[in-house]
Amino acid sequence: MGSLDANLPGVTIDGFKPLDLDGLREQLLLSVDFIVDYYKNVETQPVLPQVQPGYLRHIMPAAPPACGATLEDALRDIHRGVLPGMTNWASPNFFAYFPATLGSAALVGDFIASALNPVAFTWLSCPAATELEELVLDWMAQLLRLPPAFRSSSDSGGGGGGVIHGTTSEAILCTLVAARDGAVRRAGGVPISRLVAYGSDQTHSTFAKACRIAGFDQANVRLIPTQLGSGYALVAARLRDAMAADAAAGLVPAYVCATVGTTSSTAVDPLGLIADVAAEFGVWVHVDAAYAGSACICPEFRRFLDGVERADSLSISPHKWLLTGLDCTCLWLRDRPRLAESLGTNPEYLKNGPSESGLVVDCKDLQVGVGRRFRALKLWTVLRTYGVAGLQAHIRSDVEMARAFEGMVRADRRFEVVVPRRFALVCFRIRAWGGGEAAAEADNRMLLALVNGSGRAYVTHTVLGGKYVLRFAVGSTLTEHRHVASAWDLIRAKTDEVLGGRPLEELRVVFPSSCQVALD
Ligand SMILES: *Cc1c(COP(=O)(O)O)cnc(C)c1O
Repeated sequence: MGSLDANLPGVTIDGFKPLDLDGLREQLLLSVDFIVDYYKNVETQPVLPQVQPGYLRHIMPAAPPACGATLEDALRDIHRGVLPGMTNWASPNFFAYFPATLGSAALVGDFIASALNPVAFTWLSCPAATELEELVLDWMAQLLRLPPAFRSSSDSGGGGGGVIHGTTSEAILCTLVAARDGAVRRAGGVPISRLVAYGSDQTHSTFAKACRIAGFDQANVRLIPTQLGSGYALVAARLRDAMAADAAAGLVPAYVCATVGTTSSTAVDPLGLIADVAAEFGVWVHVDAAYAGSACICPEFRRFLDGVERADSLSISPHKWLLTGLDCTCLWLRDRPRLAESLGTNPEYLKNGPSESGLVVDCKDLQVGVGRRFRALKLWTVLRTYGVAGLQAHIRSDVEMARAFEGMVRADRRFEVVVPRRFALVCFRIRAWGGGEAAAEADNRMLLALVNGSGRAYVTHTVLGGKYVLRFAVGSTLTEHRHVASAWDLIRAKTDEVLGGRPLEELRVVFPSSCQVALD
């Protein structure tokens, strides 16, 4: 592999064709083989890679190659350099964070979108991308039984509709900016430093980050404490207290981020009660259902979205649990023009008839960036290929595997389930026994290190109510019951190592009931 020499005379290549149609099929087939081989082998690979920081620099040349190579050479480099450093999210033994699911339909849809490669900032820049996005968001809205006010096809005459963002972070930021501008207008031009935004101490950290970007005073971002007793959900009465105190102090409540399925423990904030409080103070309600929103396509989970009909906006990330592949966050608003009021631009070089006609939406005005990928295609391909029945079966199968895991944990008295499982995440840990909380944390940290160090599973942690807790998230696309069962065997074996010689009597302890939390 030749590397670049600053003094190398310019290399000229005759007939260089970066998209050589004669060789394209063969080249694409190389990538197909690569992908299929990867998926077939991934189960046998360590889930968490065994590499040290800086590992890649020892494998790949520091300077860019002066002369090109074949795609086969590049694929060999990927094998040698990239795969060993992959945290294998596609592994069926991946139980960390929230899994990023990807069905073959999304893979194909995204592949085609990549090949078409439109930059769909305005309707005219790619009518198909804009219109498929509206269609697929309306489909999703029906799947989730969202009120018609959130659909762009609604006859209700409102300005409802959606947009696909890359991440929940962008959805929160953009809705926060729209809420900010509305609050400033309504309060007669108060400075942004007087506005207040609310979440709970379980709200994703990206909410506080969005507040920073949007210019909120850090002192005016309220993360209301939650407790085990209410399942770590935001308590509406405490929200009201906070808003009332702020209003009395001359501040302006502007935005509340409610969560359906918090990241630590999948707690569900009571949307209706939060909307009641927000209405008193004229506050924008955003619902972040990044993970658990996908489950609400099943009737038995839909109740967790109850109250959403009174929210201003809702975001769900099909890239988490709906097989769509990163990245794809659906954002719906009951008044979509509010986004454009805050984020719209109209430069000369993008002006065109359809935009001026007012008959079309230009997605650049509903997001942070201008250019955007054709993400709707993969989401549409997923829905078209799997149908509602397939997607519901997928959610239910993950939930069933998580239920089985929860049952195995509950059957071993060395462990406790820390909050009752709601979706496909189980929060559990080795119980605190004689050594108290500090010893329990040490035990669980050690367990996590041993499990993850084995390469045979990857599990992550959180802290809930001061307790160090393991999160076992079922739902990597290739995961089957046998993977869950063998992860549990691994956890038990490593727990034997952690607890070592400690007599089981000492673990018999005084924990009659593992979990008594009132939910709902
Ligand atoms: C994953 C997650 C996020 C972060 O989403 P990004 O798309 O990475 O910005 C936000 N909120 C919740 C509830 C999540 O689970």
